[in-house]
Amino acid sequence: MVGFMVKIVFLGAPGSGKGTYSERISPKLGVPHISTGDIFREAVAKGTELGKKVKEYLESGSLVPDEITIQVLKERISQPDCEKGFILDGFPRTLEQAKALDQITDIDIVILLNLPEELIVKKLAGRRVCEKCGKIYNVADISYGKLRLPPMLPKNPEGVCDECGGRLVQREDDKEEVIRERLKVYHELTEPIIEYYKNQGKLVTVEVDAPADEMAEKILKIIREKTGKE
Ligand code: ADP
Ligand code: ZN
Repeated sequence: MVGFMVKIVFLGAPGSGKGTYSERISPKLGVPHISTGDIFREAVAKGTELGKKVKEYLESGSLVPDEITIQVLKERISQPDCEKGFILDGFPRTLEQAKALDQITDIDIVILLNLPEELIVKKLAGRRVCEKCGKIYNVADISYGKLRLPPMLPKNPEGVCDECGGRLVQREDDKEEVIRERLKVYHELTEPIIEYYKNQGKLVTVEVDAPADEMAEKILKIIREKTGKE
């Protein structure tokens, strides 16, 4: 895996699976999974300066201002573990952020995850995360036409996180009113980025229509084909 670079952006509505697939694909490509949402949540939990600044935005489901977000991202991808590239999950989320990213670095491929809106709401409501390590689970059992997205439960019979034994909780912003606001923000501010990357020839749209492990394989294959990287 030494000697190549791969810089990937995952795009899609909240709940489309960006976190789940990034988490699975990152170790296979040997590049870090960077979630601005995770960085912000951790800062809030620790009560850092950044955390104090962004808390209200996260609670209301609105976007953290571009200025703050771009700075955080810039610092994160200048870390040594990003030398061979990275997977961005949840950034960019505005046209402004996408343009700023192009000033900082060259993105190879943008994966747009597509899922009907009814299912997105179900998936968000069913999402559970490990309180300690952030690993994602889902209790929703979705059947929609031919589409079946089974739950993603821990293997651990105690119902705790497989990785670290932590408790599985619902995210504060996965409550119904906040979900609605986040979807609205996605349509208004984030969807315009799709066109932006389409024009650059970097966009690949992927239908979310299979269980998580299968989806991760499918996406990995697309990344390898499009970038020629193993
Ligand atoms: P999801 O994709 O499930 O909505 P994230 O974990 O990506 O959740 O983001 C959670 C929250 O963190 C967002 O609702 C927003 O307040 C903030 N956030 C994350 N990434 C960004 C970003 N790139 N720009 C602005 N705000 C962000
Ligand atoms: Zn855990």
